[in-house]
Amino acid sequence: MKHAIGVDIGGGSIRVSLFDGTGNEQKSNLSKTPDHLDNDLFLKTLTETIRPLAKDCIGIGVGSPGPLNNETGTLLKSANMQGLQNVPIKQTLEKEFSLPVYYENDANCAALGEAYFGTYKGCESQLILTLGTGVGGGFVKQGELYTGFLGNGIEIGHTTSVIGGALCGCGAKGCVESYFSTKGFLNRYFEATNTKLTDAESFFQLVRTENKVAKEILHFGTLALAHAVRGAIHLLNPEAVVFVGGITNSYDLFGELLENEIRSNIFSVLNERLKLGKGRNLSGTLGAASLVFANKKV
Ligand SMILES: [Zn+2]
Repeated sequence: MKHAIGVDIGGGSIRVSLFDGTGNEQKSNLSKTPDHLDNDLFLKTLTETIRPLAKDCIGIGVGSPGPLNNETGTLLKSANMQGLQNVPIKQTLEKEFSLPVYYENDANCAALGEAYFGTYKGCESQLILTLGTGVGGGFVKQGELYTGFLGNGIEIGHTTSVIGGALCGCGAKGCVESYFSTKGFLNRYFEATNTKLTDAESFFQLVRTENKVAKEILHFGTLALAHAVRGAIHLLNPEAVVFVGGITNSYDLFGELLENEIRSNIFSVLNERLKLGKGRNLSGTLGAASLVFANKKV
């Protein structure tokens, strides 16, 4: 059976796992990374974390937050690991291990992992939305990731819900993630009450205790997200739309409204065949390993 390595470069750690072709983890390894380090130390830590697992595998997939260049395989810089700049990840690992190396941003990896091993695996095409700090997206068609020209496509979180609406982290106003995401919920709640919440859990806890303001914010945000998804369905006509990410832990609070609003506003010919629901929230390393499986067509 063909095995692949998945590497998840996150804030503070590098996780590496070896998977078989059915997505079962065989071995794993983990290294902590300090906040301040230079390119050489980072690349040394990365290769030494991978090395014990790099036998009998067909390739290495690497995922990390951006900004990155997926053609050259370079991490341009990192918000969590200061001191890194233009890190040649793909080039270094290919030379070190003589294996094909694929490098993508972690949202794209999550989308690919869900498409290969998730709730609707085997579908012809899937639009996967990552609902967390922000709203990310990935589109997988016939087993391949579509990232757009230069690799920055499917940024559904930054499509407009309200013209001239709330300020988004991207600098524009009225983006859907200003209304439906951890950042969006906390900012809208602060705007309405002058009270700072620290995380999505505390916001959803307020919704569970019937807090009127929190419920209204979630209701409007859910409609905003539903209509962004409606637009994307009409553009892409995917076989399945899947929601993953930390916020889906509270899917019971908004999933029904979200799905109903989407289904009642898309063309009926699309509605009859569309698969719609919550994904499996697979690991970042499996998402990264899926880059290898996608390119090797296992
Ligand atoms: Zn935005």
